[in-house]
Amino acid sequence: MNKNLRVPVGIFGIFLIIAITLTYTLNNLFYLVNFLYIGSILSIGIYLFVINNKYGRHLVQFTIGLYMVIFLGIILQENMQLSGFFYYLFLGVFQAAVIHYAIAKIFGPVLFGRGWCGYACWTGMVLDILPFKTPKNHERVKNLGLLRYMIFILIFIGVLILFYLNVPNLDYLMFIIFILGNLIYYAVGIVSAYILKDNRAFCKYFCPITTFLKPASYFSLLRVKNTSEKCIKCNKCINNCPMDVDMLDNRRKRKNGTECILCLECISNCPTKSLKI
Ligand code: SF4
Ligand code: SF4
Repeated sequence: MNKNLRVPVGIFGIFLIIAITLTYTLNNLFYLVNFLYIGSILSIGIYLFVINNKYGRHLVQFTIGLYMVIFLGIILQENMQLSGFFYYLFLGVFQAAVIHYAIAKIFGPVLFGRGWCGYACWTGMVLDILPFKTPKNHERVKNLGLLRYMIFILIFIGVLILFYLNVPNLDYLMFIIFILGNLIYYAVGIVSAYILKDNRAFCKYFCPITTFLKPASYFSLLRVKNTSEKCIKCNKCINNCPMDVDMLDNRRKRKNGTECILCLECISNCPTKSLKI
């Protein structure tokens, strides 16, 4: 097989297996259409990257992100945010939001790290078109990252309270919370990007999903490695990384190692082709 097609075909194969397994297990054709759509888009985007087309990742972000937020979230009224995940979990309903979290954010990152953040997140897709692609200063604001864990706990407690109070029309309320939550995420994401001159400031300091993403992605099978003696330590990879990862260090506990979103900017910018995934 053409070597440019190996990874895209492999990714499509993984999604095909997920699609068939869930369709048969849950007896619902939706999962076949949903995962084949996501798998096809991802494979096309990765193929575009492999052949050096710089718009491949943005294409994937917008086609998957808009599908999730508009079709699943707004049209089908499924709360796909963290609040929805907790809500459906408390209800004991194993449906789209819970499956989505299990695959993309809780267990999947052991295989593909924070691929979700780089290719499918509908907050990230907007943040990535802001003007501060790489932060000027790769040092984080001390302790600000703790906010994401506090937001995670607040969302958990908030949904738990609503659930146990048995609030009337809770399904509809969860839909409103989904819309408001997204608007707040976009507002905080855009304002913090401009204040800190860093497109991904929201991901580094505020996003509560990272509470799930970071521990699993520590063990990620897919990760950027410096595999070559040719590395001249020019730091171009670090300077072009939106997430401040030190990819000159191959250890799993490298600086900001669990922040890598697999955008592959480091690989594209390496003049000696020393980085590999
Ligand atoms: S950190 Fe959060 S907001 Fe950023 S891309 Fe990942 S899930 Fe989206
Ligand atoms: S530039 Fe490289 S290390 Fe940084 S987030 Fe992208 S893929 Fe990961």
